[in-house]
Amino acid sequence: MQGEGAGAVRRHRLAVAALCLLALAFPSLSVAAPLRVLASFLPMYLFTVNVVGDAPGVTVDLMLPASLGCPHDYALTPGDMRRIASADLFIANGLGMEEFLGTPVRKANPGIRVVETAAAVPPVREGGADHGGVNPHAWVSPKSAILQVRAIERALSESSPANAPRFRANADAYASRLAALSAEYENAAGGFRRRNIVTFHNVFGYLARDYGLRVVGEVETVPGQEPSAGEIRKLVRLIREKGVPALFVGPDSPPRIAEMVAREAGVPVRVLDPVATGSTAPAAYEEAMRRNLATLAEALSRP
Ligand SMILES: [Zn+2]
Repeated sequence: MQGEGAGAVRRHRLAVAALCLLALAFPSLSVAAPLRVLASFLPMYLFTVNVVGDAPGVTVDLMLPASLGCPHDYALTPGDMRRIASADLFIANGLGMEEFLGTPVRKANPGIRVVETAAAVPPVREGGADHGGVNPHAWVSPKSAILQVRAIERALSESSPANAPRFRANADAYASRLAALSAEYENAAGGFRRRNIVTFHNVFGYLARDYGLRVVGEVETVPGQEPSAGEIRKLVRLIREKGVPALFVGPDSPPRIAEMVAREAGVPVRVLDPVATGSTAPAAYEEAMRRNLATLAEALSRP
């Protein structure tokens, strides 16, 4: 009797040990392993939190302050390096928007997985023989944003397979809201009487491509570099010749030059928000892009 009892306990212990080994080998069978996600700048953060939702064990942090804007020319601080060091997955826009991708990020964390979400979007190429690169502002169009959201969903699901069904459901819900927004853009654009726009820098290339607008000029052809007097005269002439109804600037564009150009050309200044700065609330992208649509419709629907 005693011997049989000891044998049963031993078999039970062996079974428990085997289960523990199985759980160690396949963590997705039991509880999802924690996943630390770092988003490079505001729009990548907004897309990521919508896909993650309340998935257990997944944290999402925003690396650059939401007040910074496009990270053109941004150099990593020691604090950024520390945050990269403690993250598993880095969600970036890519296409050169974050120049620190590559060596600086790898140096901070050789094991981090970097996802350049804009690689999922058909590229908008910049005109001109001297700078024939790809416009990096892919997120500023609901149609393109959906493709970036799906790229984020794929990366999250590969990194945390246990949460994949939840990521899929969240991404489906967010993508369908973005698709509704995209349909609003298409419907409104069908009624626009003007299509030529002038913007502060090249942030609206994807919006223009996706909804049939033409960016005929930019105040700053190089971000952060003021235009010369000759370039300003050329821009004023262009606005008049092409029937551009307003000068569109970002919420953080320096107002002095834009106001001078608009006054010379006899058009108003209107704010279009590329959602590179602002609220970190999950609905912030949709809200800002809806305000942009109202601004565009008001300016472009008039004869
Ligand atoms: Zn930019």
